[in-house]
Amino acid sequence: MSGASTPDVMPVAFFGHGSPMNAIESNRFTGAWEEFGRSVPRPRGILVISAHWYINATVVTTMRRPRTIHDFYGFPNELFEVEYPAPGMPELAQRIADLVEPTWVGSDVDSWGIDHGTWSVLVHAFPDASIPVVQLAINAAKPLEYHMKLGAKLAELRREGILILGSGNIVHNLRGMAGGMGDAGFDWAERFDDSARDLLTHQPGDVLKLQEHRDFHLSVPTPDHFIPMLYFAGLAAADPDDPSVLVDGYAYGSVSMTSYAIGAPAGA
Ligand code: ZN
Repeated sequence: MSGASTPDVMPVAFFGHGSPMNAIESNRFTGAWEEFGRSVPRPRGILVISAHWYINATVVTTMRRPRTIHDFYGFPNELFEVEYPAPGMPELAQRIADLVEPTWVGSDVDSWGIDHGTWSVLVHAFPDASIPVVQLAINAAKPLEYHMKLGAKLAELRREGILILGSGNIVHNLRGMAGGMGDAGFDWAERFDDSARDLLTHQPGDVLKLQEHRDFHLSVPTPDHFIPMLYFAGLAAADPDDPSVLVDGYAYGSVSMTSYAIGAPAGA
C-alpha cells in the first residue's frame, strides 16, 4: 500500500468469508481479518454487504438491536450459540437512503439482522461487538452494473467514519467442493481468482470484464457471493490508491478466500 489515503477517510474491504466454521476457528484467513480490525481507525459504524442477504429489494437494516441470524444448518451447536450483539444504527440507514437517491432504499425493521456472512468475519475483526452494524441487502433483481454503481454512491460514508465491508467469495462453487485440497484451488478457480486479482489491484473499475472470463460460470454459478465484491470495486474505482490483497488462498478447492482492502495500513 502507498498509504496515501488520509486518516480521515475510512478503509474499505472485501472479505472472502468461506465456511461459517471460520467464526469459531483460527486460521490464516481469520488471522488476516483480526489484523485488519486492529489496524483500522475505530469506525463510527460498519456497513456490510453480505452474500447471505440476497432478496428482491434494495433494503437496509434499521433496527436498533439487530439479532444474530444463524442462517445455515448442519453445523455444530457451538456455531448456533455464537452471538454478535452489536447495536444497529438507524441514522446510518437514513443517511444511505438519502445518499443513493434516486435509487429507492427500503427499511427493514424486523426481518433481518446480522447474518453469518457478516458475523463470521466481525467476531474476528471487531470481537467486542460494540460498533454499530447495518446491513445492505443485495437486490437479486438488478444487473451486476447496478451493484457496482450503488457501491460507488456510498463513497461519501468513508468520510463520515463508516467502514464499508463486502463479505462473499469471488470464486464460490459449492458443488465443486473437494476435501484434501489444503488451501490450493482447482486450476479453473485459480485462473479466475488470479484474473480478479489483476483487475482489482490495478483496474477495479473494469472488474465486470470478469463476466467474459472462460471460467466465469464455474467460478460464479450464482451471483450472490460475487456481488459483495462489486460494491468494493465500485468504491475502489473512485479511490486514488490501488487495492491490496489482505490474504489469499482457497477452501475445498472451489471457494476463493481472497480478501482485499483499500486505505488499510500496510501489513494489515
Ligand atoms: Zn457464504
